[in-house]
Amino acid sequence: MEGTSFLPLLRVAICGGTHGNEMSGVYMVKEMQRQKVERAGSFSVTTVLTNPRATDACKRYIDTDLNRCFTNTLLSTPITDSTPYELRRAHELNSQLGPKGSEEAVDLICDIHNTTANMGLCLIFYSLDWVPLHIYKYLQSKITSVPVRAVQLDIPMAEAFSLEAVGKHGFAMEIGPQPNGVVRADIFNIVKEARDLTIEWVQLFNSGSTFEGGEVEAFTFMKSIDYPRDPTTSEITAAIHPELQDNDFKLLRPGDPIFLSFSGETVKYEGEETYPFFVNECAYYEKKIAFHLAQKVTLTLPSINVK
Ligand SMILES: [Zn+2]
Repeated sequence: MEGTSFLPLLRVAICGGTHGNEMSGVYMVKEMQRQKVERAGSFSVTTVLTNPRATDACKRYIDTDLNRCFTNTLLSTPITDSTPYELRRAHELNSQLGPKGSEEAVDLICDIHNTTANMGLCLIFYSLDWVPLHIYKYLQSKITSVPVRAVQLDIPMAEAFSLEAVGKHGFAMEIGPQPNGVVRADIFNIVKEARDLTIEWVQLFNSGSTFEGGEVEAFTFMKSIDYPRDPTTSEITAAIHPELQDNDFKLLRPGDPIFLSFSGETVKYEGEETYPFFVNECAYYEKKIAFHLAQKVTLTLPSINVK
């Protein structure tokens, strides 16, 4: 595969608090602002606490999920008196860091999230963008304390709904398990290591280093599975089975237990072999998602360097 070159990454944004109760990003951004981090060698660093009202309230969001507001349709919806707070914030963030899809957009957005699922460090991105994929490859080669994985959402950029889609390149960093509203030092240190390595990668890239291509493993989203529910009340009637709990990204085979009903019955998985992730994510109960399923793929990256 031939090498590819990209323009230098001169403006990088590190964001947190998109979900106001995911504390690693909240405290990482606050700490970087306290230390007045505004540059790293060849590039500027913008730190943004993206959902300040939700952060103050220590809630995921005030009116609606901010990280679903960045589709082209929602970003072009006129603001009125009845516009939800988060959609208003999405427009402000799109002005500050974008506009999405434009030449003026920042070069790289890293948005820090936590999950209550046992996902280790997981980079999430749209499409096949070699810049975040090479950052992923770099993080994977350097971080040994926790598994480093990547999830690719195969969604066209116009429909890409999360903050990192506003940058020319971007990824979300999910780290877990960490309960909402809680900050754990072990998890925070992983975020710090991943942030420092991302900054190091951008420095090396801008200064002319070539990053060799090669194969990386990633997971592509297939579908979501809901909890078993009472057909009348639609209340959940089962929890994630203990054999599935904390086993994100471990192969799930037909017949493997996935739920344990409150009356004691095991529900077994039916379907093709697959990889579950976001298992028992707290914030997904309201979305009627018990876990997502993914396929494992091997991606072949070209070598890249700066134009
Ligand atoms: Zn989040």
